Amino acid sequence: MTSRNPSLPRRASREAGVDLTSRSALVTGGGSGIGKACAVALAAVGATVHVVDRDAAAARAVAAGIGAEAHVVDLADQAAIESLPTGVDILINNAGLQHVAPLTDFPPERFALIQQVMVTAPFLLMRRSLPHMYTQGWGRVINVSSVHGLRASAYKAAYVTAKHALEGLSKVAAIEGAPYGVTSNCINPGYVRTPLVEHQIRDQAAAHGISPADVLRDVLLTRSPIKRLLEADEVAAAALWLCTDHSGYITGASLPIDGGWGAN
Ligand code: NAD
Repeated sequence: MTSRNPSLPRRASREAGVDLTSRSALVTGGGSGIGKACAVALAAVGATVHVVDRDAAAARAVAAGIGAEAHVVDLADQAAIESLPTGVDILINNAGLQHVAPLTDFPPERFALIQQVMVTAPFLLMRRSLPHMYTQGWGRVINVSSVHGLRASAYKAAYVTAKHALEGLSKVAAIEGAPYGVTSNCINPGYVRTPLVEHQIRDQAAAHGISPADVLRDVLLTRSPIKRLLEADEVAAAALWLCTDHSGYITGASLPIDGGWGAN
């Protein structure tokens, strides 16, 4: 397996002169993994950050570490979403969860929950945030989708369905937001080293009846020419770039960060 220097994306964003001191951002699932990396990266370039997570301890720990505000909200609860700020300039729809099971055994309530958190909550948050972005003539909606927003894998019916729906929602926001200086894009990571993937490796091992090491080599990374997991701060660097004015013409796009998986 190859490895990378973890300081590279942060150094790159500083060298590119990214400055978001006048911007505010709301990051869902900001207590862990990719959301945490996005919150940290945004705060590092001066943004006022709102960390949203149902995990109170995680949200508060991340927020305390970067001078952000924590919001303990379960995104499956539509009423609770109403408590979140509406006047943000950058919305990162990132919170997500996975459930691995054959379609024939897939629990309907898990399917519904995954659509609620990964499709309905992003829709509600866009619906609440876009009016402020439209009024000021600038906004960024960044939807953390997945390779599974563009292609499918067995045993992930709810997740693949939700990510494909998020792709469609992102494109509608791009079209409606364009006259107001608002872009909306998806980021499509391959497998990222986060707790979500560590749980998946365990679940896939059970589903396929093989060891966790074999899951990584023979299931997760089998299509990826680059044989390593992606790091969360590499995803955050892409999100940061989408917040700059250099990327203002990029909208309705899906940006794969997949180690070449989609090319294979
Ligand atoms: P993670 O499990 O490390 O973090 C997800 C965070 O979302 C957690 O802090 C969790 O508490 C929060 N969350 C989950 N359900 C919530 C709810 N109902 N209300 C509020 N908060 C909730 O996961 P991650 O790997 O960082 O994934 C983040 C996003 O990236 C997800 O949308 C995931 O689908 C996507 N993604 C992950 C990978 C990967 O390999 N890890 C790859 C592609 C896409």
